[in-house]
Amino acid sequence: MATLHSIHPIEALVGARSSTVRRGIKWYNENDQNLELCYCHDGIHEIVGHGRSIIRALRTFNTLSDHELANEHEASSRTVAGLLEAMRRAYGEDFKKTELVTVLTYWRTD
Ligand SMILES: [Zn+2]
Repeated sequence: MATLHSIHPIEALVGARSSTVRRGIKWYNENDQNLELCYCHDGIHEIVGHGRSIIRALRTFNTLSDHELANEHEASSRTVAGLLEAMRRAYGEDFKKTELVTVLTYWRTD
């Protein structure tokens, strides 16, 4: 079981296909398809559900389009501009548009 930590509430619906964009190749190399979905807040890790990863794609951030982000699990990240803000919140203001990211697509199962 791999734990997908998120610093924002996960807005993916149960039974829906959803995606998240992560800095670097860690999630590209993650072979465990079983995910636990963690909402990290106020110093705690709250497991809010589970999922199954179905597609992992390695990209550079600046090749992503709004269309591809339509199923992002954080609603405010469903545009490239919104996602860039989220990446900088999560990883720091030094996150660059030319960086490699992994687009992880999963089914939320509960
Ligand atoms: Zn967490």
